Amino acid sequence: MRYISTRGDATRKRFCEILLEGLAPDGGLYLPEQYPHLSSTQLEDLRATFVEKGYAHLAFEVLSLFIDDIPADELLALCKKTYTSAVFGSELIAPVRPLADGLFIEALSNGPTLAFKDMAMQMLGSLFEYELSRRGEELNILGATSGDTGSAAEHAMRGKKGIRVFMTSPKGRMSPFQQAQMFSLLDDNIFNIAIAGVFDDCQDIVKAVSNDLEFKRAMRIGTVNSINWARLLAQVVYYFAGYFQVTSKGDGARVSFSVPSGNFGNVCAGHVARMMGLPIEQLVVATNENDVLDEFFKTGRYQVRTSGETHETSSPSMDISKASNFERFIFDLLDRDGDLTRKLFHDEINRLGYFDLSGHAAFKTIQQKFGFVSGKSTHQNRLETIKATQKQFDQIIDPHTADGLKVAREHLQVGTPMVVLETALPIKFASTIVEALGREPSRPSAFEGIESLPKKVIEMGVDVQAVKDFMVKHCA
Ligand SMILES: *Cc1c(COP(=O)(O)O)cnc(C)c1O
Repeated sequence: MRYISTRGDATRKRFCEILLEGLAPDGGLYLPEQYPHLSSTQLEDLRATFVEKGYAHLAFEVLSLFIDDIPADELLALCKKTYTSAVFGSELIAPVRPLADGLFIEALSNGPTLAFKDMAMQMLGSLFEYELSRRGEELNILGATSGDTGSAAEHAMRGKKGIRVFMTSPKGRMSPFQQAQMFSLLDDNIFNIAIAGVFDDCQDIVKAVSNDLEFKRAMRIGTVNSINWARLLAQVVYYFAGYFQVTSKGDGARVSFSVPSGNFGNVCAGHVARMMGLPIEQLVVATNENDVLDEFFKTGRYQVRTSGETHETSSPSMDISKASNFERFIFDLLDRDGDLTRKLFHDEINRLGYFDLSGHAAFKTIQQKFGFVSGKSTHQNRLETIKATQKQFDQIIDPHTADGLKVAREHLQVGTPMVVLETALPIKFASTIVEALGREPSRPSAFEGIESLPKKVIEMGVDVQAVKDFMVKHCA
């Protein structure tokens, strides 16, 4: 298996070469040269693997189709070390539970930080450690977070050999629970930096440090953002696990998935699973008030927003102005025309701030050929969905999952199971739950009292040089 860029660069790379990279050198995103396609017999073999041996073995089988430069026994060991019931809270790792009327919820949020990003980030931690040790190299991960990504990255990289994490966050702007999740990590290789500013200031600092190419190279700086191919690949696995839990052997059933979406990473993994031949009927892209993606799937126009136009919502992990993984799907939609993809995402977005595919023949095939449909929710919709779910099913869901469920209902088809991906546990967004239900959601026992644990965090102004100095001092 070789990897290519969505913008037409002809270089073909192996998995371990792109593992630690972000964008391809031509500014595109990496994708496999072609998707492996599974016959129905192979699909049933995967089902047997999942049922008889469990999630880690399923992950190994799926990853093996895309990774041929890690020896099989080592890749299996990495998967087994990553997907354990101790880390993910159950033997199934991603258990599916029924709601009603053909509706199901797949829990992806029982990892260490209670959000679905753990599903991929934990695997990334294992893969990074393996590859760095093979190369005899070190990596310093520098990031900016407003919550979920930073804590998932820290929990995945804590204690990993050859890796340090420097995570900036806006001081005082995360919930006490989110702060505690990050700042209570006392590991030697984790560094929390609270910046006296907003999230954009943190991102600007990271950009400024990374743009100093000499410093970046000398300090071996890398990232773990959502465009990383290995993260996306690890997410493909739970579409298979979800499918196997709601269908039976040989019934040939098709299943739909509804996905609370922001950067299009999660649902793009569903697209990859569907391209591999997993019988997915619909891929429901659910957005909040930040509806860049819903607008595209409805009209063909992809209009990125400015940060001023980006709403702060009660589903904050979906508050995005542009969807950083979207280019991967557009490349496939356009029959993998790298020149046209570059024209849209580089020329037109930079010049006009949008591109419009409404007149393109491919746009008319999106639903029929690729299964994509979309919808969105408002704050009021999410509150109502949380209330109704509690009343009808005695279950509390978080605002992101509520978004997915609200939009899922609009696309429900008789006879086709619909699986809503649960992307976070309600305790992470307690204030919205209180607003909807008048009471706090329950807290997993391991998280009792985390707000009062000792904290390791250093405070800084919006000061690029101070961040650089801090990194130098702690990398000696
Ligand atoms: C990151 C995140 C999302 C959005 O996922 P994308 O891959 O960016 O589309 C949705 N819900 C939660 C809770 C998240 O943390």
